[in-house]
Amino acid sequence: MENCLFCKIVNGDIPSDKVYEDDRVFAFRDINPQAPFHVLVVPKKHVASVAEIDKLEDSEVAACLRAVAKIAADASLSGGFRVISNCGPDACQSVPHLHFHILGGRQMADKMA
Ligand code: 5GP
Ligand code: ZN
Repeated sequence: MENCLFCKIVNGDIPSDKVYEDDRVFAFRDINPQAPFHVLVVPKKHVASVAEIDKLEDSEVAACLRAVAKIAADASLSGGFRVISNCGPDACQSVPHLHFHILGGRQMADKMA
């Protein structure tokens, strides 16, 4: 999608620190990490958020979550990790291309919000 930041990252028009890629998914380090490990996992196909998940094939949704698990395993996040997908203004979503944050490498706050 034109003028979408994460579409430009997926296409290589904007550089990123890539950690994983397959035919459906792209993952890269967050530019402003909130934890020692902070990676964003995005479908290559543009959809705005989880609210538009019906626009993706089931295989694309599954590929995103399988990538989350693989990336976390490869990073040896033995203590666990947190997966977040902000959806819309109440959740403070700032980039309207579906993405899953993987946060790890430290103890997370007990409260989620
Ligand atoms: P949201 O607030 O939409 O859930 O998350 C968007 C995330 O994208 C933020 O954590 C922000 O730091 C990250 N981000 C914004 N612009 C860039 C960029 O140009 N490159 C990378 N790697 N991350 C970005
Ligand atoms: Zn996009």
